[in-house]
Amino acid sequence: MKYIRYRKEGTIHYGALEGDTITRLDGNYIEGPVQKLSTGDSLGEVEVLAPTEPRQLLAIGLNYALHAEEQGKPLPEEPMMFMLSPTAVIGQNAGITLPTEDHRIDYEAELAVVIGKEAKDVTKEEALSYVLGYTCGNDISDRDLQKKDIQYTRAKSYATFKPLGPVIETELDPSHTQIKLTLNGEVKQDSNTSDLIHNVEELLAEVTKVMTLQPGDVLMTGTPSGVGPLSPGDELEIEIEGIGKLRNYVNK
Ligand code: MG
Repeated sequence: MKYIRYRKEGTIHYGALEGDTITRLDGNYIEGPVQKLSTGDSLGEVEVLAPTEPRQLLAIGLNYALHAEEQGKPLPEEPMMFMLSPTAVIGQNAGITLPTEDHRIDYEAELAVVIGKEAKDVTKEEALSYVLGYTCGNDISDRDLQKKDIQYTRAKSYATFKPLGPVIETELDPSHTQIKLTLNGEVKQDSNTSDLIHNVEELLAEVTKVMTLQPGDVLMTGTPSGVGPLSPGDELEIEIEGIGKLRNYVNK
């Protein structure tokens, strides 16, 4: 199932997407079981919103070996986790605002995990049963602030710095799926989640040793190699096999 959140004529709806057709649901899929209604909408006539409004937005650093190498950093022995502000989230076709043109600000394509039920101290074996599904994420990062602050929060939490979407795919196998980013039509990142150093099960086990994850919370799993800087007017597309394409542009 592909869950989608969207706005039409000023009202926000939740739906299930098949092809270009949306079937409306009787409630928010984040909050519990939902039923399909008889009303439908066409994808082309709605504004697609981020598929979740997380209360906690968590990310993992340096989780692909080639990316750690390109950043000149050693691989962390344990998953390196950090929190981001959920106010940075935007959805499909929304503009990314660069707060300054003096800093290097990079794109980072990532598989994003959306939590389906409260999770604390989950084992690797049961971890995936706490997942609602998966979406595409972009962990936009101000490299200058990242170096200066050591902490990542400021560098990665500006408004519009966390595009998510376009849908939550509930049937995905996160252990082996292709992840690709194109910038102005040119492929910049092309990898597979089978290259994750710590897989989704391990990440959820480690994170929930520390904190309780709630339905709708998002865990971004790290970016593969090929990151690079953004400029005003750039067009970005992140495609994760089985999920779809997350498209965003950089505001001029
Ligand atoms: Mg990242």
